[in-house]
Amino acid sequence: MLQILAATTNKHKIKEFQAMLDASADSGRVCIISPDTIRGFPEIIENGNSFEENARIKAGQAARYADMAAFADDSGLEVKALGGAPGIYSARYAGENATYPEKMAKLLAELKNFDDRRARFVCVIALAYRGDIVETFRGEVTGTIAPEPRGTEGFGYDPIFIPDGYDKTFGELGEEVKSKLSHRARAFALAADFVHRELQTMDDFEFV
Ligand code: IMP
Repeated sequence: MLQILAATTNKHKIKEFQAMLDASADSGRVCIISPDTIRGFPEIIENGNSFEENARIKAGQAARYADMAAFADDSGLEVKALGGAPGIYSARYAGENATYPEKMAKLLAELKNFDDRRARFVCVIALAYRGDIVETFRGEVTGTIAPEPRGTEGFGYDPIFIPDGYDKTFGELGEEVKSKLSHRARAFALAADFVHRELQTMDDFEFV
């Protein structure tokens, strides 16, 4: 069994990854470990300048601390008319302690005078083993920003993001649709493919 530490405390992300793993070809061979189970797991400072850098920082530090394989997800929402904001600052947009309704209200206010409401969610997954970064995988989903929040499914900015090809937000569409076409699902599919190929090349694949 390959055990991989998820270098995130975001329960929503872990839930989405677990559901994707359960539906994947290696569901019985890979097990996701939550950082709550690692004593003294440190807070990781994300001070990179891109999704890739932040994902590498998180996965690398987690793998070194726990001395096991780890993966990290760095993700966010990029709005075209706002020059790609909030981007890598999505979690801290509107201040460290702002709620998601506050973050979405700020974004909608900033977009008020723009006709162009195009946006994309980006997710970069980094996989690391014993501190060495193995690989990064990027997934994106394009769409538009809704005029107001709609729906209660998902998390974060889901209630204001309408993926291309739909007229409902991720908040309305829910897990079934999101797990097929989201940025995280796309990055996960690439990472899962990589892990699957690695598993094929090793008889006794033991990372721990
Ligand atoms: P991170 O933990 O630094 O990667 O922050 C990611 C932030 O981007 C989250 O806290 C959300 O604000 C936003 N975000 C990332 N993925 C999603 C998603 O799937 N739905 C809604 N918001 C997301």
